[in-house]
Amino acid sequence: QKVGIDAGGSLIKIAFQERGVMHYKKYPIGELESAISWLKAVAPNVMAALTGGKAHILQGEFFPNGTIVPEFQATCEGVRLFLLEEGKKMPEPYIIVNVGTGTSWHLVDGERYVRILGSGVGGGTFMGLGTILTNELDYQQLTTLAAKGQKENLDLLVKDIYESDKPPINGDLTAANFAKGLNVKHTNADRMAALTNMIGETIMLLTLQAAAKHMVKEIVFIGSSLIGNPFLTEILETYMKMLGLQPTFLKNGEYCGAVGALLSI
Ligand code: ATP
Ligand code: MG
Repeated sequence: QKVGIDAGGSLIKIAFQERGVMHYKKYPIGELESAISWLKAVAPNVMAALTGGKAHILQGEFFPNGTIVPEFQATCEGVRLFLLEEGKKMPEPYIIVNVGTGTSWHLVDGERYVRILGSGVGGGTFMGLGTILTNELDYQQLTTLAAKGQKENLDLLVKDIYESDKPPINGDLTAANFAKGLNVKHTNADRMAALTNMIGETIMLLTLQAAAKHMVKEIVFIGSSLIGNPFLTEILETYMKMLGLQPTFLKNGEYCGAVGALLSI
């Protein structure tokens, strides 16, 4: 029996193959112990492939015979497999955007893949800054708030600056994120909407620049930050289409690293 484990900055993702069927599970990184006990209970003699920033900790503490697979290799191989399984023939080259705790960009061309960009703005920003802005700790609560809020109560739009004058660019574009500060009354939901939009815009702008530089149109989005966060996913999808880029959101995309690691043993 084989298992692929991707232990990242926030979550531990487990892909476990049993009689030809793949099972998936994820736990907060703080519940590492209970995740591994579950795994060892269902599969005592499992062969483990480990990836992610905490792979060495997993190897040292739980899987001395585990194989460590480089994170970017595991991620890109996992994406390749999921695309194949979904029967999606992706024109190459394409860009993978992994929205994890932080965000990374990878360029894939045939057998070759290279990490081209990274940003500290990602799912960890959503959680951390989200908690500071609302005092809410729970991920699902934060995503629910984000979907209900009005970002216009915080964000200064181009049309706010131009007022009754005709703006030289689309008036609905953001002139400055959060710039209304305390000038306008706003709720926790509004703050989460503005935060989610700022994260989405940042990822969009970096994706646009990477796509232009490498002359790519196809963008594959993965990472747990897009799971159960329909507002962030919708923002990214809308912006990509607006820019003439073709987004794909992979089903089980948060398990690319775990599955990609598993493939290599
Ligand atoms: P990295 O790859 O950057 O080291 P990671 O692999 O742990 O980190 P992901 O698991 O892809 O990153 O994404 C983590 C993000 O997913 C969190 O920051 C949060 O925004 C989001 N998330 C999704 N589901 C949950 C959940 N149940 N609990 C906490 N965060 C969640
Ligand atoms: Mg990760």
